[in-house]
Amino acid sequence: MNTDASKYVYELAVVSDAIAALRDQLPGGSMLLYSMKANPHPRIVEHAAREQTGLEVSSEGELAIAVATRRRREHDVEIVCTGPGKSTAYLEAAASARAIISIETATEIQRMRELGIRGQNILVRINASSAGQRAGLQMTGTPSQFGIDEEQAETVVREVIDAGHNFRGVHLYMGSNIVSEDDLVGQFKISTRIAEKFADFASGEFLADLGGGFGHPFAVAGERPRWPGLRSRLEAMTETLRARSAKVTFESGRYIAGGCGQLNAVVLDVKRSKGQKFVVLSSGVNHLGGLSGLRRLPQAHIDIATDGLAEVPEPERIVGPLCTPVDILNKQSPTELSVGDTVTIPNVGAYGLSASLANFLGHPYPAEEVRLDGRLITTTYSQVVHKEVAPA
Ligand SMILES: *Cc1c(COP(=O)(O)O)cnc(C)c1O
Repeated sequence: MNTDASKYVYELAVVSDAIAALRDQLPGGSMLLYSMKANPHPRIVEHAAREQTGLEVSSEGELAIAVATRRRREHDVEIVCTGPGKSTAYLEAAASARAIISIETATEIQRMRELGIRGQNILVRINASSAGQRAGLQMTGTPSQFGIDEEQAETVVREVIDAGHNFRGVHLYMGSNIVSEDDLVGQFKISTRIAEKFADFASGEFLADLGGGFGHPFAVAGERPRWPGLRSRLEAMTETLRARSAKVTFESGRYIAGGCGQLNAVVLDVKRSKGQKFVVLSSGVNHLGGLSGLRRLPQAHIDIATDGLAEVPEPERIVGPLCTPVDILNKQSPTELSVGDTVTIPNVGAYGLSASLANFLGHPYPAEEVRLDGRLITTTYSQVVHKEVAPA
């Protein structure tokens, strides 16, 4: 590998620790789903499944990885297919994978009917009429492309049953990156209240997917949050559901994968322009934080991996190598960097490479190194493939 190329390093032991930490804070016996959107790397997905999580997928591509993972596991792995605008191909793949399908609108019931897809395990995703908390990204309680408005949900549940499907339960997801325990509890109060309303509609075991939103630092140093009262508050809250033998379910991407990854980038150039110093790294928004333009990325704080560097006498602007002025990783660096230095950006195991603009400008993808307890397991390289297909 080039010494001046970037690489992601993932430590699977951290994935195990995070899953254990999250389970400790949830009611005993809850089902936990790993949201593959956070990091679909097959080794991370497989490791989560090994730790007995189900897999929450939101596209055909993620579903293919989930199915391959399940094939390699000895135990069954629950797969839940979510996402608005499910295509014909996605619905067919979900049905043949015997996944639980979380429908977002009645159109999806109609589409399955047209495709002759019957007898599926169906969750109905509901957009609660009040959200009552301040999540990083509000996905419910307001007009939303996600889920069926609470007021229409009962009609759609009846349609699911009338269409001959197995109504398994409800799916609520209200927001992301919530760090306050009270905010987490507030949203789960709403999802629990809604789930209770639908428990009697299920013929078999009722699945109450109450959502998630468990926060985690991103691209800044810091520990995963702990919510000391969460478990007992959730246990009290879900007592009625659990007394009815409902399967209480939670979802998480960033809490599970966020801490497992770091990005190592190399300083390729240092230049000065009109009094401003610029540090050009081997990684830009093609490797990290492509979603920053969508306000999903807090500003990166860069920990310097090399010793003996001087405090920076004037602000350095950290930029990537892309030919666009939006390629800025950090407006202020605390330490003076020189060509050849390596910088390490922590807590980017979730929403790192796969959430970036990797295809833009055609730089190579960074290597992704997967480790377990420090031991290198594998290194993968992704690439863009333009496959030509003969016209039909
Ligand atoms: C994005 C998303 C998640 C995962 O969110 P995190 O913040 O990574 O935990 C879970 N469920 C649904 C429906 C989502 O859209």
